[in-house]
Amino acid sequence: MSETFKAVLLREADKKVSAAIEQVPVADLPEGDVTVRVAYTTLNYKDGMVMNGIGRLVRDYPHIPGVDFSGIVESSEHPDYQPGDKVVLTGWRVGEVHWGGYGELARVKGDWLVKLPEGIGLDDAMAIGTAGFTAMLSVDTLERHGLEKDRGDVLVTGAAGGVGSVATAILANLGYSVAGSTGRPEQADYLMDLGVSQVIDRAELAQAPSRPLAGERFAGCIDNVAGTTLSNVLTQMKYGSAVAAVGLAGGNELNTTVLPFLLRGVSILGIDSVICPKERRLAIWKRIATDLPMQKLHHMIERHTLEDLPNLGKKILEGGVRGRTVIEVS
Ligand code: NDP
Repeated sequence: MSETFKAVLLREADKKVSAAIEQVPVADLPEGDVTVRVAYTTLNYKDGMVMNGIGRLVRDYPHIPGVDFSGIVESSEHPDYQPGDKVVLTGWRVGEVHWGGYGELARVKGDWLVKLPEGIGLDDAMAIGTAGFTAMLSVDTLERHGLEKDRGDVLVTGAAGGVGSVATAILANLGYSVAGSTGRPEQADYLMDLGVSQVIDRAELAQAPSRPLAGERFAGCIDNVAGTTLSNVLTQMKYGSAVAAVGLAGGNELNTTVLPFLLRGVSILGIDSVICPKERRLAIWKRIATDLPMQKLHHMIERHTLEDLPNLGKKILEGGVRGRTVIEVS
């Protein structure tokens, strides 16, 4: 093994965070019982926040970001992993509190890793990433709550984003009727291709609701946006339905009355992909292998390199990244 490896390194000076490609000494890798040669990583909204120093997600610099990675085990002191195993990591605050996947090597706790399920390649795993995992977790959570195919449209907000695109593809593949809301009308064909039956203009849902209850419209919702969009959506949910609260692309506040909960039995189900327990994590990856149509996944990928990441980190915060981004590392 050479003594250094290439990585995106974040440094902080004068309270400003900057990102650059650097050679990092292998000896600087953090503690952990498994060292992975990273093959691919990806770009999540949170990676954009980390690379731009937003939200104080990172406390210690220098820092290697990258919430997700897939790769091959290089060395292991963990009983479940041997050199050569193909693994994927999402969550566990890797890329925030721990050094992440934006480098050729990563060292983590073996308990955080998942062996790649049959039928999912190293690059597919990063086309999926936290966004895809979260999308599957959301669908699974709504189904556990009682989501049914014959009750009408399931709304996906932020549909052209990473979580939204994968959620749309999974729901459509499972036979649900999907309404996708987007602020990018030029992505209508892309969303139709993923399987939406209707495209809703983001602006229509982004207005504060004028009444505590409106007409019953959606049988379920995967919400990536929150803010006034979620306030509005709650007034339009059908009796007994649920919203999977995933994201905050439109703000982290929620102003609502309790009437959707009390008079229509509507539920908000919180989705957490980061500390999701291992057993559920394995079950969700298994479902991804069967329920996510891989050819649709391939349509939503853009491929980039480590060098592109600092710019991509800005672009995703501006809502300018479509679908999923796969970064080839080594
Ligand atoms: P993306 O940036 O890929 O997607 C977010 C989408 O939201 C955008 O593509 C855009 O969709 C829409 N959007 C962006 N800005 C606004 C705005 N101001 N108002 C309304 N809509 C907006 O991010 P991801 O898909 O990776 O993540 C989506 C959200 O979910 C993020 O908030 C992220 O932090 C969160 N998340 C949560 C997880 C969890 O465990 N709970 C895990 C992963 C992500 P369009 O152009 O179609 O309108």
